[in-house]
Amino acid sequence: MSGEVKTRAAFRSLKGKSPNELFGDLPTPCYIIDEAALRRNGEILSSVMRRTGCKILLAQKAFCNYDLYPLLSQYLSGTEASGLYEARLGKENMPQGEVHVFCGAYRDDEFAQLLDYTDHIVFNSPRQLEKFGKWAKDCGKSVGLRINPECSTQDGREIYDPCAQGSRLGTTRSVWDKQMTDGLISLLDGLHFHTLCEQNADALEASIFAVEEKFGDILSRMKWLNMGGGHHITKEGYDVSRLEKWIIYAQEKWGLQVYLEPGEAVALNAGYLACRVLDIVENGAARIAILDASAACHMPDVIEMPYTPPLYGAISDSTGENHYRLGGPSCLSGDVIGDYSFNHVLREGDLLLFGDMAIYTTCKNNTFNGMPLPNIWRRSENGQLEILTNFGYEDFKMRLGKNSSVIREKNL
Ligand SMILES: *Cc1c(COP(=O)(O)O)cnc(C)c1O
Repeated sequence: MSGEVKTRAAFRSLKGKSPNELFGDLPTPCYIIDEAALRRNGEILSSVMRRTGCKILLAQKAFCNYDLYPLLSQYLSGTEASGLYEARLGKENMPQGEVHVFCGAYRDDEFAQLLDYTDHIVFNSPRQLEKFGKWAKDCGKSVGLRINPECSTQDGREIYDPCAQGSRLGTTRSVWDKQMTDGLISLLDGLHFHTLCEQNADALEASIFAVEEKFGDILSRMKWLNMGGGHHITKEGYDVSRLEKWIIYAQEKWGLQVYLEPGEAVALNAGYLACRVLDIVENGAARIAILDASAACHMPDVIEMPYTPPLYGAISDSTGENHYRLGGPSCLSGDVIGDYSFNHVLREGDLLLFGDMAIYTTCKNNTFNGMPLPNIWRRSENGQLEILTNFGYEDFKMRLGKNSSVIREKNL
């Protein structure tokens, strides 16, 4: 998808109004979560559920701004968690939905509590299933095992490929054949695979072929199949009918309930990061704008993925007349958001608005360098802005040593 199309999609919900008009009064940096955009995603996802009978959950690791859960719960079947805290967040804030959890390994000292919050528990290995499976079943939970169909569909991005060589995620068929006893198999209600990242339905199709080849004999004995996340369903150009075809195929072939648990697709293009230019420095031919937001602290996936986020009124380009490198105020040389071209000269104090900033941001940011956490605002469908957080020095200090909030938590 071209940069321009991406930028248009990221700012679609602004309906042609400028960032200055809409957000000019907000203290920066701040995140803004856009309800209209979330609803649009919710409608696409719920239409897939309606047409296929599958259930779609929010993978909270991508987006867990729980003030928006009441809106999302109108569309989704529940939440998916990576562990105890996300499970609790899902149960407490989307109580009408199902809560599913997958974790690489569960802890003895957390498992009892986990049972209070979850409906489905997915184990990563036969050993974990052996250790906790019966306990979970006795408490009425639906129990699953994550399988690894050993089918890589993404090139050169090992960090996001659970099927990469030597991956610790999921049980391969050869491990299944070695370690799964009849007793263990009888504990299972379902299988889970998560093999995709920002991919289209062709990659799902390839994964389903691999799952069928490796585990087809097991699936007809299962009640459900969870196809994980990484489905870019709400992105322009995603082949929704191909997705639906494979959901229906699985449900009919094996007589089971299909679940999907996308994170990114739920909150794609549903948030912004507003920031301002603090200074403009030069180095040789380069002009560099230093912003009050940081890639390293406030949009870590820009560096980790890496990718260049959409920016309102600019294109990702280092050749135009008014091109700048945009970077954060931190000490890290690599705290660079990207190179952008504008149709005007940048000045100190200018407001900049990055798009697609609801996912993997507010749940993944940090206070490296003592950087303040940007506050989070909600933009309702009538355009009203409401602040959801009140971050300050305490939020930086709290995680580092002895202080009142830690003591308060311990005494609970
Ligand atoms: C990361 C992850 C998801 C969500 O992935 P997205 O790419 O955000 O859709 C879902 N399930 C599991 C097990 C995951 O690890």
